[in-house]
Amino acid sequence: MSHEPSDRAVNSAVLASTNFIRNIIESDLAAGKHAARRWSGAPGPADQQLAGALDPARIRTRFPPEPNGYLHFGHAKSICLNFGLAQDYGGRCHLRFDDTNPEKEEQEYVDSIIDAVRWLGFSWQEEPSENQPAGECHLYFASNYFDWMAQFAEYLITSGHAYVESQSAEEIRASRGTLTEAGKESVYRQRSVEENLDLFGRMRGGEFPDGAHVLRAKIDMASANINLRDPVIYRIRHASHHNTGDRWCVYPMYTYAHPIEDALENITHSICTLEFADQRPFYDWLLERLAEGGLLQRPLPQQIEFSRLNLTYIVLSKRKLIQLVDEGHVSGWDDPRLPTLVGARRRGYPAAGFRLFAERVGVSRSDSLIEYSLLEDTMREVLNESAERRVAVLDPLRLIIDNYPVGTSEACFAPNHPLKPELGKRAMPFGRELWIEREDFMVEPSKGYHRLYPGSMARLRYGYVVKCTGFEVDESGEVNAVHCDYLPDSKSGTSGADRYKVKGNLHWVAVADAYAAEVRLYDRLFAVPSPGARREGDAEDVERDFLDDLNPDSRRVVGAWVEPALKLAKPEECFQFERHGYFVADRVESEEGAPVFNRTVTLRDVWTSKPSPIK
Ligand code: ATP
Ligand code: MG
Repeated sequence: MSHEPSDRAVNSAVLASTNFIRNIIESDLAAGKHAARRWSGAPGPADQQLAGALDPARIRTRFPPEPNGYLHFGHAKSICLNFGLAQDYGGRCHLRFDDTNPEKEEQEYVDSIIDAVRWLGFSWQEEPSENQPAGECHLYFASNYFDWMAQFAEYLITSGHAYVESQSAEEIRASRGTLTEAGKESVYRQRSVEENLDLFGRMRGGEFPDGAHVLRAKIDMASANINLRDPVIYRIRHASHHNTGDRWCVYPMYTYAHPIEDALENITHSICTLEFADQRPFYDWLLERLAEGGLLQRPLPQQIEFSRLNLTYIVLSKRKLIQLVDEGHVSGWDDPRLPTLVGARRRGYPAAGFRLFAERVGVSRSDSLIEYSLLEDTMREVLNESAERRVAVLDPLRLIIDNYPVGTSEACFAPNHPLKPELGKRAMPFGRELWIEREDFMVEPSKGYHRLYPGSMARLRYGYVVKCTGFEVDESGEVNAVHCDYLPDSKSGTSGADRYKVKGNLHWVAVADAYAAEVRLYDRLFAVPSPGARREGDAEDVERDFLDDLNPDSRRVVGAWVEPALKLAKPEECFQFERHGYFVADRVESEEGAPVFNRTVTLRDVWTSKPSPIK
């Protein structure tokens, strides 16, 4: 079933909240900061029309992934923030691929990112308006701006703000200085504009090998901010690019490219994670120089940083995720245990759950580690609303009702959703032999056990009350069938059925009609809150590897018996299996009429009470 019902609730929650970024936006809007912007004109750097016209009272944000991996839960926070702000303030959010690095990027990643952003419920198509034709696509590629970036670099050279450096990478690093010591000016810093222009032209022309020269901004080698000590802005790379092919052999550095991308797209608020805070002075320096030269119009985009999402029990670094996939610790990028958005989708985490979660964790500038159980609780909350109830027996044991007529069957009626009577009831066939959970029977009951044991009475949910009369064991001594008698006047929903007061209330499916389903019981991928971190009691020299903290029980496959209605489950349909948790029909491995199910999350958190499987 879809997750639509909760969408509205989530959006109104977003509108109701506030945070420091909203405060900045609201005061910019109140001051009319962007109202002075010329939004129309022909495309081109002097009046950036790339992104089209926009009502000056609106904002523009962007989500700028590098297409070098699959999106993870951290990206979901950034997507919800950027697209959410644009939605709330009637602005626009661009999806922009930051594809300035020729070596690591692939179409596969571009496609998966587009899918993931759409799945989260966001789009970059505008409603038609006076200035915006229907269906115009605000999907951008940074590599389309390479010409302008190079032209801007030439302007920086001409205006004395950039020079060609011919020292090696090694030498540049060695002369950059430290936090306490100023850097040393390069001998090449005094090159004339003509020489710089000539060399940069020849770099572009392919005359030099990789690493022979770089282009550096000319700022201040003594700056307290190391990022302002003449940062490299262009380097030579003889490499093919997925979009521009072999047209270029010089490529802009990320720190140079990014502010220009924002400015060309008329981004008003450029929101990024805190590690870029030290780069902000360079971001501003660069855009100021280009605006001074008339190449960009003011007001310029403003960079605003927030702290990245960190969660317990998972890793969110692309490098570690790639390692998990490449070394086969998981089945692929969409393994339901992986904190990627493709993985989450297969796991059954609803997109509305991510939006609500992003809202709950909020945005701030202080580093924080969020409990994984908060994410799970949010998913449970959304699924509790949206998922219909069904019955599945995951660890089956045969129950034989000896006084029930052989060869007959009847219908019992179970509500599809206890909170939504309008969703009606469905019929579940009842018969003489049923599957119940193995843990719902004990030969010798422990104290407080109210389910079945010889002599006890319990209710078969939506059916009859039964009295346990005995059990059978196999050669190994394991119980393989339980016997009982039913009370014919105890059927749920019939008058007088509640005269029987029993504490146990068991779920079941009829043996004759049950569907044999493969069910994957997924659990957390890591068994400790901070995978790879040193633990209390570790000796000084102990170094841990995050792979040692993998949870050995993160995936268990069982052969379950489920109620016949589940045979018709469509891929991605979510259910609550009563007493067990939330499950989804796998979108990859289910076949028509033969779904397999993934456990999304249990009904209750078991992690806070359970001992870690790793010592
Ligand atoms: P990683 O650090 O995992 O390799 P990244 O920052 O290199 O991720 P990008 O493709 O550059 O990945 O990220 C796109 C956007 O997502 C950036 O604006 C980045 O700040 C944001 N982002 C990445 N990780 C997180 C996170 N954990 N929390 C919030 N935002 C994030
Ligand atoms: Mg990055």
